[in-house]
Amino acid sequence: MRRQRKAKIVATLGPASSDEPTIRRLFENGVDVFRLNFSHGTHDEHRARYDILRRLEKELGRPIGVLQDLQGPKLRIGQLEGGQARIERGDPFRLDLDKAMGTARRAPLLHPEIFAGLQAGTPILLDDGKLRLEVVDCGPDYADTVVVTGGILSDRKGVNVPGVVMPLSPLTQKDRKDLAFGLELGVDWVALSFVQRPEDVAEARRLIAGRAAVMAKIEKPAALNCLHELVELSDALMVARGDLGVELDPEDVPGRQKEIIRACRLAGKPVVVATQMLDSMVSSPAPTRAEASDVATAIYDGADAVMLSAESAAGHYPAEAVSMMSRIIERTERDSSYRPIIAALHPEPEATAADAISAAAAQVAQTISAAAIVTYTTSGSTAIRAARERPVSPILTLTAELSTARRLAILWGSHCVHTKDVQSFAEMVKKACRTAVKENFAARGDKLVITAGVPFGTPGSTNILRIAWVDV
Ligand code: PGA
Ligand code: MN
Repeated sequence: MRRQRKAKIVATLGPASSDEPTIRRLFENGVDVFRLNFSHGTHDEHRARYDILRRLEKELGRPIGVLQDLQGPKLRIGQLEGGQARIERGDPFRLDLDKAMGTARRAPLLHPEIFAGLQAGTPILLDDGKLRLEVVDCGPDYADTVVVTGGILSDRKGVNVPGVVMPLSPLTQKDRKDLAFGLELGVDWVALSFVQRPEDVAEARRLIAGRAAVMAKIEKPAALNCLHELVELSDALMVARGDLGVELDPEDVPGRQKEIIRACRLAGKPVVVATQMLDSMVSSPAPTRAEASDVATAIYDGADAVMLSAESAAGHYPAEAVSMMSRIIERTERDSSYRPIIAALHPEPEATAADAISAAAAQVAQTISAAAIVTYTTSGSTAIRAARERPVSPILTLTAELSTARRLAILWGSHCVHTKDVQSFAEMVKKACRTAVKENFAARGDKLVITAGVPFGTPGSTNILRIAWVDV
């Protein structure tokens, strides 16, 4: 099954998409990577979805990426008398460590770490930024604030403190349990929420120890201040616009999105644009014009993947949202302005053999109109460097590592096939041709550009480029 586009689709599974027929349809309609969102659902529910994905993978013969998204230190207020209260602009409002039910004048905020980071003037946002407080006075166990934007506050609503680097580990006790569970299941990617510092990624990496690839979600302004270190330390980034859009002013999000994508493209790290991309499709069978344009913008910027959250997890039209996203990507990639825009951000090759070969492969493939660039890879790095070139030709990636095949499902432009290693040069050419035909990339007489490392089976040794004529 060959997709007719370069950019990939990540879709979140949830109550609206947990049975086998629905998940199969999402895959058929275009999902490349499935996200298990550990902010919701039980381990049993996630396991059931995971098992369906692996069964489908086997049946359809295509590697499927599974992304475990950890909740992270999402701050929430405690409970309120009657479940909710109306807080009024200009009124005083207190947050503290007292477990007693909240009222219109105070609420429990049972996160002692928060109070240390506050000072007079710090803004505190509640309920995805709908309500706004400003700190007037604070101590180790309380904050007295004034209500700047009032409204209805209800139980357990989220709390954002945008301006402050919180002394919080990005991995809560719950995250650690969820992570152990996810690694045991065999997820391919782990997404870290509310990353603030490079150390946050380093800590997660130590725990994960290579068993999954690590994606840092950029949703805190603090993370933007160390973006380049985060790019270096992570295997991929997510532009998590849900929380980022609460922590920043909305008008700041588009520019930051472009900055994050640019940093990732330069480093050759996959980047996912997430949240509210087709939000109205939660309840409507068609998106707004603005949403179609939003997906297209991420594609023109060269993002590796775009993501569906509530649209596929809890909406009324999960399958339609996937098809729509796929159609927008395909149309955008065929638009005459797409190539010049992508090329404008083209990064220079680094001074390595792998980059020299990748840049040459992209160039040669375009010059001779090759049906595909075929890359042999073990760790996935050759395919990632090939994709960094954003070549016109599709990348057919061959790997003997199933975990690599699954991880690369997120990678721009790469169609990955899990296959046995080759032992000789002749076998390398033959297998490339056979696979290209079998996977519908080439027919007899077409040309392929093949890259590999000789001697075979030595990771990181990419050193040859070979043009082959398909004769099978
Ligand atoms: P979430 O992350 O859906 O887990 O909050 C994505 C975002 O904040 O955009
Ligand atoms: Mn988030």
